[in-house]
Amino acid sequence: MNWVTVLWPMMISACLTLALINLRIALGEVKRLPHVFFFLSAISVATVCALELTILRAESVDQVNECLRWSSIPLTVMVASVTGFIWTFFGTGRHWMAVAGVVILAGSQVANLVSSHPVVRRASAIRKVETLGGVRFTTPVVTETAWSVVEMIGVLFVIAFVFDASIALWRRGEKRRALIVGGSIIFFFLASRGHAALLDKGLVQTPYLVGLSFLAVLVAMGHELSDEVFRAAKLSRDLHESERRMDLAAHAAKLGFWTWNLAKDEIWANATARRLFEVPMDEHINMARFVVSLHPDDREGVEKAIHAALHGGMEYEKDYRAVLASGGVRWISARGRVELGNHGRPVLMRGVLLDITAQKTADTELQQLRGQLAHAGRVSMMGQLASALAHELNQPLGAILRNAEAAELFMQDPEPNLEEVRAIIADIRRDDQRAGEVIDRLRALLKRRDIETRALSVSALLEEVRALTRADAAARGVKLEIQCAPDLPAIRGDRVHLQQVLINLIINGMDALSEPRRADACVIVSARRARPGFLEVAVMDNGHGIPPDRLENVFDPFFTTKPHGMGMGLPISRTIIQTHGGHIAAENVEGGGAAFRFTLPEDGDHNAPSI
Ligand code: ADP
Repeated sequence: MNWVTVLWPMMISACLTLALINLRIALGEVKRLPHVFFFLSAISVATVCALELTILRAESVDQVNECLRWSSIPLTVMVASVTGFIWTFFGTGRHWMAVAGVVILAGSQVANLVSSHPVVRRASAIRKVETLGGVRFTTPVVTETAWSVVEMIGVLFVIAFVFDASIALWRRGEKRRALIVGGSIIFFFLASRGHAALLDKGLVQTPYLVGLSFLAVLVAMGHELSDEVFRAAKLSRDLHESERRMDLAAHAAKLGFWTWNLAKDEIWANATARRLFEVPMDEHINMARFVVSLHPDDREGVEKAIHAALHGGMEYEKDYRAVLASGGVRWISARGRVELGNHGRPVLMRGVLLDITAQKTADTELQQLRGQLAHAGRVSMMGQLASALAHELNQPLGAILRNAEAAELFMQDPEPNLEEVRAIIADIRRDDQRAGEVIDRLRALLKRRDIETRALSVSALLEEVRALTRADAAARGVKLEIQCAPDLPAIRGDRVHLQQVLINLIINGMDALSEPRRADACVIVSARRARPGFLEVAVMDNGHGIPPDRLENVFDPFFTTKPHGMGMGLPISRTIIQTHGGHIAAENVEGGGAAFRFTLPEDGDHNAPSI
């Protein structure tokens, strides 16, 4: 047993181990080419080592020459696979250099193989050398031919390629990899070739060290490859960890995840998403199945939103109702994003789902509460108008009574004047209609709760409001003036709610005029076109105005300066205007008084309005 018989077999087994490890990785990896080249390099280095061992033990020149000839194959495969490794692992360097180097080298080695004796390097004699620890081994005396110059040119091209690729990788910032892999390949290529040249000339008397040098190259390559594997393993651990975190967050937030594969029309949904729709875990889901589970009223909207996302919008956002197998309905908020394939066409939609039933219920309740509050506001407002309206009702009722009495008198006549009686009855009908209209308007104001928008004429709306407030204004001695620009477009709104806003502003204006009483007390309601798409309605008075430091507070709930005020009129008015898509603001008018202006969106289709 000597170190030659121990070291070389160890090198062979090390190479084979590395080869097997990388073969295993290459078979299971997506990015497998570097591992394949590593495997080939390791196998060829193991073969080179085996041939070197045979030369060390050779007893004849023929035996050595046979080894030198057959070494062509592993040497070519080794250089080619190291080149391939750099090509695929670095992804840099000028490829023509690599191709030229490998082709020239392979050419010289083919010549070596096809001939009956080695043509690159041929042993003319063998020497038995005794070295370190008295170990005896064989070294050949080698003559180099012109082919060895060709081989050298091939090796130089490969070295130039590795150098070029390493420099490019270095510039890209991967300095360590360029230095360890590129540097060691160049160093050991040159070292082993230089050592072989010295050995061939008999200048040094050691075994060939090509196998050992390339084992070092393998170690450098393997180090970087395993680094890659470790990084992948770490990434996989991180991914797993982040998946668990995501799962936890999704679970805590009750988020459902879904992915729709467009090509296969397959929808993947996690357990939470399936629970939201009450779909069993093993049920296959596609788009048709999803649409069927939606509330019939929401299907079209959802399909439109998906269509818009797929055809350019990319983002998908929709709230809809799912009809559950158990019979209930669940509100779901869905968000998603389209993912494009290589050709820029949508291939996937991915997103999240959230149960918003509770929020929707709360919204509805809030809406109802707002409606009730607005209604309460109207009732209290009507309380203020009541006495004046009662007065307005008294007038037609009194007239009806007087006309009825007159008719009775006429009828007592043996020959009643029927023409007169007819005229009296017509008067009674007209008065009755007047009284009926007043009552109708009151009833409409007191009854309705939900907002119901439609096209409205502003001038008709202002006339209605004038009819409702006229009596109160007259009782207070306030002049009520309506100024409506001609040909105003229709607005979109709820008649009763907008009447409520206007009446509230007019009453506030009249309240501001009551103390001290003035002869020119006046409330002007005007309407005009403001910015495009909006009308502006203003209610102006020449009363005491709003103290400047209170201007900001007038819309606050419960802000009032009146002894019996509730401070709810303006906040309710603001909610109503905002619900209509408008804006309301208060200001003081130069010369005294306050003005409240609000905007309302014009009706989109400009249909002839009706009230
Ligand atoms: P209320 O009329 O019950 O006080 P509002 O919300 O309608 O409730 O009004 C809040 C306050 O805004 C009033 O108390 C008053 O101080 C002020 N205000 C409203 N309109 C006018 C106005 N035209 N002129 C002066 N102050 C006004």
